[in-house]
Amino acid sequence: MSILYFLYSISIIYGVLVVVEYKRIKCPECGNEDPRKLFEQADKTTVLYYSMQGTPVYRKQMKCGNCGNIFDKNNS
Ligand SMILES: [Zn+2]
Repeated sequence: MSILYFLYSISIIYGVLVVVEYKRIKCPECGNEDPRKLFEQADKTTVLYYSMQGTPVYRKQMKCGNCGNIFDKNNS
């Protein structure tokens, strides 16, 4: 039981890592793709929707720590 659960957890973690690797984000301005220099932040000018608690959920955008360019994660 515990070993099966352990293997299951490993496969989940491995799957997540593969997805992260596949969705590697790159700055369109300077070509920086170092994840330590790319920061996700909320675009407070664009509210996607309001949660059930009434708090706004903002659109996510990426900021490049190398050149300071702000770009859309999905269009990179
Ligand atoms: Zn950049």
